[in-house]
Amino acid sequence: MENCLFCRILRGEIPSAKVYEDEFTYAFRDINPMAAVHCLVIPKTHVDSLNGLDGLTDRQLAACLHACREVARLEGVDKSGYRVVSNCGDDACQSVHHLHFHVLGGQKMHEAMA
Ligand code: AMP
Repeated sequence: MENCLFCRILRGEIPSAKVYEDEFTYAFRDINPMAAVHCLVIPKTHVDSLNGLDGLTDRQLAACLHACREVARLEGVDKSGYRVVSNCGDDACQSVHHLHFHVLGGQKMHEAMA
């Protein structure tokens, strides 16, 4: 998508702090971290949100969850615990309309984080 922020990050037009990448996904640090560890996992194929899952293959979707687990391992929070959040739509305060999964950890989570 031409003007999608995360598509632009994928194309390298906007810099990002890469944490992990594979054939289907890209993960980078959130620019405004809400926890000691706060990364975003995105599919390389653009879909707006979880509502757009029909635009992904099951393999691409599964890759997102595998990437979340890998990010947690690389960031050293897989044993201590972490939270995976995907905000979908206005009431969830989704601000970037490219499906993404927040991976949060490195501290005790409050209930409403991300
Ligand atoms: P959401 O509010 O669930 O749509 O999450 C969007 C996330 O993208 C927020 O946590 C932002 O801090 C993050 N974000 C926005 N722009 C950038 C950027 N250029 N690099 C990294 N993270 C970003």
